[in-house]
Amino acid sequence: MVFPAANGYIIRFQGVAVLTSGGDAPGMNAAVRAVVRTAIFKGMDVYGVQRGYNGLITGEVVKMDLRSVSDIIHRGGTVLYTARSPKFRTPEGVKQAADYCRELGIKGVVVIGGDGSYRGARDLTHAGIPCVGLPGTIDNDISSTDHTIGFDTAMNTAMHMVDNIRDTSQSHDRCSVVEVMGRNAGYLALHTGVACGATAILVPEVPFDLEKDVIPKITRTQATGKKNFIIVVAEGVGGTENIARHIQELTGIDTRATILGHVQRGGSPTVRDRVIATQMGYHAVELLEQGIGNRVVGIKEDKVVDFDIDEALEMTKPFEEELFKIADVVSI
Ligand code: ADP
Repeated sequence: MVFPAANGYIIRFQGVAVLTSGGDAPGMNAAVRAVVRTAIFKGMDVYGVQRGYNGLITGEVVKMDLRSVSDIIHRGGTVLYTARSPKFRTPEGVKQAADYCRELGIKGVVVIGGDGSYRGARDLTHAGIPCVGLPGTIDNDISSTDHTIGFDTAMNTAMHMVDNIRDTSQSHDRCSVVEVMGRNAGYLALHTGVACGATAILVPEVPFDLEKDVIPKITRTQATGKKNFIIVVAEGVGGTENIARHIQELTGIDTRATILGHVQRGGSPTVRDRVIATQMGYHAVELLEQGIGNRVVGIKEDKVVDFDIDEALEMTKPFEEELFKIADVVSI
């Protein structure tokens, strides 16, 4: 909010802060940039908190200006650093953070992170500092949004990596079992598997029996002339090395396991991630400007929406059964 003072100067009415928390995700920088620029546009003071909630306890807070967020929209990771803060999970930690915000004149905080970070945002709001959460995670496991910031980039990265593996699999007539990230969620595995034409996609949401479901599928497609196979396994399923070993034992096909790991968390964000990060960052500041906290922002059916944090944490996200079924059909 900007109030022209009697002397004609602009009075800076309130300060907002922005932090990134939990696991990093490509597009977090684009969100930070949007928050900083929108807040400055509205005449607010803006602070960048480093290393998640920890920064509000240790005082790692920097004043941001328009140029603090130059040249970051295309960069993966987070220029504000991120961390997990056990101290913030204690009542004293939350109080310390809230007191520090009051000291700096911070009237609202934009928190970019996952479900855990949302819980922290709720605690800080209850301690008197209104917070708005933005979904930043490659896992897409946040129910209050169709897309999280970082998911699209991670899918594309995983797809390119699996494409590379497929080249060598094809050359050697091999089966490649590739584990992709996603914590307990199979969204990243499902989309990567569909995009890479995987023979089978194993996700925690859908129970499977390796011997009854996966092996017959491999042998059936082998009988039609297929000689190389991609099996995508979600991190939440685990046991990727064992799965590969069993496939080799039961089919006789030379089988290798690859765990993609942290390569999926980095890299320049895609168009989609940059755009949604920008839309959501803008919206978060609009909410705080109106004094509205304890909200999380999301994208539903291509529209920017917001929900009460508690309501958002209660929501469940249905697994994409239809896409899973399609993947099964087109990989015969
Ligand atoms: P993510 O936000 O990606 O889910 P974490 O679960 O690690 O990542 O949470 C990030 C930070 O949010 C934690 O280090 C902690 O400071 C805070 N946090 C996590 N869970 C809670 C909780 N239940 N209550 C309060 N704060 C939490």
